[in-house]
Amino acid sequence: MTKRPEEIVLMAEAGRLLASVFGYLDRLQLIGMSTMAVNDLVDAYIVDTLKSRPASKGQYGYAYALNSSRNNVVCHGVPSPAEILKSGDIVNFDITLEKNGYIADSSKTYLVGEVSPLAKRLVQVTYEAMWKGIKAVRPGARLGDVGHAIERHARRHGYAVVREYCGHGIGREMHEEPQVLHWGKPQTGLMLREGMVFTIEPMLNQGRHAVRTEDDGWTVVTRDGQLSAQFEHTVAVTRHGVRVLTLRADERVVPPTGIEPVSHA
Ligand code: MN
Repeated sequence: MTKRPEEIVLMAEAGRLLASVFGYLDRLQLIGMSTMAVNDLVDAYIVDTLKSRPASKGQYGYAYALNSSRNNVVCHGVPSPAEILKSGDIVNFDITLEKNGYIADSSKTYLVGEVSPLAKRLVQVTYEAMWKGIKAVRPGARLGDVGHAIERHARRHGYAVVREYCGHGIGREMHEEPQVLHWGKPQTGLMLREGMVFTIEPMLNQGRHAVRTEDDGWTVVTRDGQLSAQFEHTVAVTRHGVRVLTLRADERVVPPTGIEPVSHA
């Protein structure tokens, strides 16, 4: 779970490349596109343009370059040619990229066309909650501080944090120790140290926190059918704080909280 400086250089390169995949996604016209078409474009971009590997392909028997989780889908949604994105949808694309043996993991929830104010608010608060967690990362802080910061922000806005899925250490493997829960008590849990690399990826539900997995064995949905949103970054603990290895171009110049996630048609 703790990486040497030269490993963090490689992870940052994977993270930079993965951030550019979201830059590419930002420019797509999502309305009318199937989630499989999005998958195929992302796959080709990672392989052909970035000379990298979509790390989810073949992992746990999964066949695609991304997970697409739309509206009431919490996570692990499977792209389909029959699933056409339409105005009003929110959809998370969760992507892992491997370069030179190291993996980066990031996701972003997109607003498709004209999205209701309530859905937009859920997406915005989820984005902020991820950043609350990221800002709690520094040497000497503990994982409970991270989880607590996320959960407090969610609850303050009336949302529930999904409990079954968490962030994770990452490196040569997509999932390494430790587990990074998105709730917790301050000053509990693993103490963070320079060189640790892990993901922070809260899923917030509009209604209750309970989820269930559909018959395909992948797709996780809210039990109450209400909306769910998610954002994810891969972060490294630095000497004095945190470095977001998957930081996107649109996140570089603005304060990390209180900003709109980039929305587009
Ligand atoms: Mn992840």
